[in-house]
Amino acid sequence: MKHTITAALAGVIAQGAISQCAWAEPGRAPALVKVRNPVEAASDPAETGFRVFVEALRPDATARGVSRAIFDAAFRDVATPDAEVLARTRRQGEFARPVWEYLVGAVSPGRITRGRAQGARLAATLASIEAQTGVPRAIVLAFWGIESDFGASAGTVSTIRALATLAQARFRGNLFREELLAALTILERGDITPARMKGSWAGAMGQVQFLPSSFLAHAVDFDGDGHRDIWNSDADALASIAGYLKNLGWNPGLSWGYEVVLPADFDLTRYRADLADFARRSVHRTDGAALPVSGEASVFLPGGIGGPAFLITGNFEVVRAYNTSDAYALAVGHLADRLAGGPALAAAWPSKAARLDTDGLRALQTGLAARGLYAGDADGRAGPKLRDAVRQYQIGQGIPADGYATPALLARVKGGP
Ligand code: CA
Repeated sequence: MKHTITAALAGVIAQGAISQCAWAEPGRAPALVKVRNPVEAASDPAETGFRVFVEALRPDATARGVSRAIFDAAFRDVATPDAEVLARTRRQGEFARPVWEYLVGAVSPGRITRGRAQGARLAATLASIEAQTGVPRAIVLAFWGIESDFGASAGTVSTIRALATLAQARFRGNLFREELLAALTILERGDITPARMKGSWAGAMGQVQFLPSSFLAHAVDFDGDGHRDIWNSDADALASIAGYLKNLGWNPGLSWGYEVVLPADFDLTRYRADLADFARRSVHRTDGAALPVSGEASVFLPGGIGGPAFLITGNFEVVRAYNTSDAYALAVGHLADRLAGGPALAAAWPSKAARLDTDGLRALQTGLAARGLYAGDADGRAGPKLRDAVRQYQIGQGIPADGYATPALLARVKGGP
């Protein structure tokens, strides 16, 4: 259609484009229109609007030290928004799926096999990184495995185009505009070329799927070639993961958590305690090993009573900080255990019927907020805040405090006094 547009329609669009330019850069002649035939420029309104958006970005990029040459190189092959990126913003990932379904895909037998082979191949690098950061090699490997299948699926989308698309659409407000400026800063520093700066539709880059701001804060040049290359260097990718986890507070003395068996008379109202206290209360690890004697943990029942039970430490939250999903953090932790030779989960997951979807979780958050028990966003996401609120509600109602959100619990919150 864009090649058969009528002259009259092109004129209307051209006027629109000029007024957009005036809005974007008051008092300035729009540089873009000067270098392009106006009718040609207007023949695709999406392209025109996009170029106007890009030009409006230039002053902020310049203020951050991005040269004209790098700015122009970054956008040279980026002429339009990426329609697939916009379509993806309307889908959902880990939050929409039950934990157990996510785990099946994330911790598959094939991934465990591939991960163990990569661990053997990169043993010396991983040992060196672990010695420097205190982050266990199995955790680093697992993170790499979940993010990009050990570098095999680092993403093929142009990061600049993906971020520009999301920024122009103002998806999540200013977040992606800031990430786009951070990406330009990375290009200016010469860590990667525009053509090789690739990743996922949401702007997460390379083998570790860092957003540009995370890259600037945490990426490491471990192989010493002067570039922090999370796209092509295994050593840089692994060290960047470990650096990220260390910087966010990974505690080297503790695991992420442990699958456990709770005794039948376990008091769920005391769900957060020292590991030694859990041991005294007859909580046992399913792999038969002893619990550590120090460190704090809390009970995590991602499928409710009857499903697998875990004690999770602060390190679980460190992993979860990267991707705020319980399913994600559990997948990284469990994959790490499997890569280190540990067993599959001992307990079976419950039936699929007994869980709330995103809308249900949102309704539960609203209901618990009205009772003064929940202070977070009504975002439809399960996490530690909602779990604590559910537990407080359950304790108040005198029912088992497993922190697990079910349709029955939502009905009780909605209908009860
Ligand atoms: Ca490097």
